[in-house]
Amino acid sequence: MNRRTFLCKTGLLAAASAIGTHGVSGPKSYVQTVLGPVAASSLGFTLVHEHIMCDFIGADQTGRQRWDVEAVVKRMLPLLIQIKDRGVKSFFDCTPAFIGRDPRVLKRLAEASGIHIATNTGYYGGADDKFVPKQAYSETASQLADRWVREWEEGIEDTGVKPGFIKIGVDEIKKDAVALSPIDDKIVRASAQASRRTGLAVTCHTGGGAAGLRATKSFIEEKANPARFIVAHSDGHGLPINQQVAELGSWVSFDGISRRPLDEHVRLVGEMTKRHADHVLLSQDNGWYSVGQEDGGEIRDYNYICDVFLPALRKAGSSEALIQKLTVQNPANAFALQRDL
Ligand SMILES: [Zn+2]
Repeated sequence: MNRRTFLCKTGLLAAASAIGTHGVSGPKSYVQTVLGPVAASSLGFTLVHEHIMCDFIGADQTGRQRWDVEAVVKRMLPLLIQIKDRGVKSFFDCTPAFIGRDPRVLKRLAEASGIHIATNTGYYGGADDKFVPKQAYSETASQLADRWVREWEEGIEDTGVKPGFIKIGVDEIKKDAVALSPIDDKIVRASAQASRRTGLAVTCHTGGGAAGLRATKSFIEEKANPARFIVAHSDGHGLPINQQVAELGSWVSFDGISRRPLDEHVRLVGEMTKRHADHVLLSQDNGWYSVGQEDGGEIRDYNYICDVFLPALRKAGSSEALIQKLTVQNPANAFALQRDL
């Protein structure tokens, strides 16, 4: 075992004992993975926002005809083995429907790697709504929620695989505007309704801090549980907005780790965890097999948090208990479902 592996696994061992003492991760608490339910207490070290595959051609042209399952598995499996060797146990795949979500790929990878992988339901309203399917414009929020709840109840497409969370996206609020675009706001409200009906957590891609905060408020206005809402890409939102999100009871996700200077992320996490450590999540938004490119194109591996970021956090004075909270306990609390297994 080299020193890097050791650094990543130390937190993991101690965390196993810490998690059972927290109410949210009791015996009936579980997470839905692509291979079925897994006790939340066995989730372990978790990456909450990564991508296995993306297809950016657009909602009207994407589809299974665009990629070969085995080719994707072959390319991506070694990267999952690398993080498994470092002590990562669970992986939330944030690629939504119409951008290359394929439970068949994720299932094969979960079986072959032994890592718990969760997929999602929902629509992505970021990127100027390029990935929003046409029906989303004519249907109401509750009709969209019906579609997502159906995936939860019956499985995604013909795979029988159930989503472990809801993934949505919103664009930044345009200059001089105060609200999300109507379609983006509808998607947030639909996710709130689907979350209320299923218990699933929602990860929301945000085009900026104003949009992230507004989406959190729309989610809460729909009477959904704020603790089920994760504001993705909070790295650039600034401390005041991140504090407001945490004070509303939602999650601030620093999932761009490795994509900004190391010291900036160490500072961001240090600043935010002074008062809101219970509301912070960490990930890298890395990957992915790019559909349409030769052998998936350039891929960013998932190793940075273990190899570089956590050692830097420790060096800056973060305790082992805090690191366990951020990488093990908080992910379990954010995504745990509370029904009987
Ligand atoms: Zn992402």
